[in-house]
Amino acid sequence: MRFDVITLFPDLIKNSFEHGITGKALSSKKILLNTFNPRNFSEDINRKVDDRPYGGGPGMVMQAEPMIAAIREAKKQSKKPHTIFMSPQGKIFDQNKAEQFSTMGHLVIVCGRYEGIDQRIIESEIDEECSIGGYILSGGELPSLIVMDSVSRIIEGVLGDPDSARKDTFSNGLLKHPQYTRPESGAYGDVPKILLSGDHELIRKWQLKQSLLKTRQNRSDLLENRVLNEEELELIEEIIREEQS
Ligand code: SAM
Repeated sequence: MRFDVITLFPDLIKNSFEHGITGKALSSKKILLNTFNPRNFSEDINRKVDDRPYGGGPGMVMQAEPMIAAIREAKKQSKKPHTIFMSPQGKIFDQNKAEQFSTMGHLVIVCGRYEGIDQRIIESEIDEECSIGGYILSGGELPSLIVMDSVSRIIEGVLGDPDSARKDTFSNGLLKHPQYTRPESGAYGDVPKILLSGDHELIRKWQLKQSLLKTRQNRSDLLENRVLNEEELELIEEIIREEQS
């Protein structure tokens, strides 16, 4: 998987890839990372890349020429680049989108700054706009890191145990069940007995019920569009009965 990031702050991106899972993925070349700074493509004597918005308004807008030159250079790195613009105006990025991106091979990720970027960049170079949520950040670098982290986790060989990604929250459309590790008990509570029983079927069912419970409590929207199978339906009914008693 190749990531090319268009950013005024390349160190913000590179420094983040010095740690943890994405750091290892980079050093073992499971992913490739490169940055392109639009300033290096500016023909202005002071390497200026922004200007005032036409029609007035606060702040500055990133100019088309240096941005487009940087994006086109990044696109040359493969035959099939997919170019995304990190933007609060984009469609919300989620696990399905991460999975889709992980099959694409080459992502060019454009990070805005200031008041955003000239619309003509979007129209001529961008395949899709992606938002990480309904709030405004100062730049697209943090959002791009979020996209790259979540996509990297899905790339084969990046996680030591491929089951980790398969069993993550969202991978089956639900939030993951609670998890415990040693010690079995402490002043802060005990591990649920069922997890110590060694009965794999009982544990699977308990974990599914906990997943459904947590999803119902925190992300009921995920359940609204889900076609529940017979077992899930029974467990949800059990949860509702317990809530009412
Ligand atoms: N004036 C813009 C608007 O109202 O839509 C917001 C510009 S924001 C201060 C600067 C840059 O941060 C954006 O161009 C975008 O690249 C990035 N950004 C901010 N919030 C974001 C979000 N929720 N998701 C993705 N990118 C975001």
